[in-house]
Amino acid sequence: MIKPEAVAAGNMGKILDMIINGGFKVIALKYTRLSRQEAGSFYEVHKERPFYGELVDYMASGPIVVAILEKDNAMEDFRKLIGATDPAQAAEGTIRKNFAESKAKNAVHGSDSDENAALEGDFFFSGRERF
Ligand code: GDP
Ligand code: MG
Repeated sequence: MIKPEAVAAGNMGKILDMIINGGFKVIALKYTRLSRQEAGSFYEVHKERPFYGELVDYMASGPIVVAILEKDNAMEDFRKLIGATDPAQAAEGTIRKNFAESKAKNAVHGSDSDENAALEGDFFFSGRERF
């Protein structure tokens, strides 16, 4: 996902360019917006964390871009491309280093396992939206 503040700042094209240049194939792509309820359900795993309410409000605050990406070793390679959660810790040349505002508003989301990638893909896309 390209998160609300990165879309609002006009960075969706540049971020998609970095993803495509990074060797990822776009399987599905959508411009959409989460309700608070949907954002809460997407981030259910973080329910017990102190920033959950803030995270849900933020993710529902504006439109986002969601995608399913394919590549050998996609999950790990995408985490490498986006960089650490906190942009202050993110390596040079990563998406978060270039575009994140803060640890909270960090420009992009990446799945943390192949299993969660499949669940998150199903959250946003039907079969006929995948190519
Ligand atoms: P990620 O997998 O690198 O995105 O990081 P996590 O799974 O640990 O956290 C999920 C998301 O919650 C992050 O991408 C941030 O948007 C947000 N987040 C993480 N830590 C904090 C925090 O300390 N405060 C706030 N407000 N948000 C946070
Ligand atoms: Mg995570």
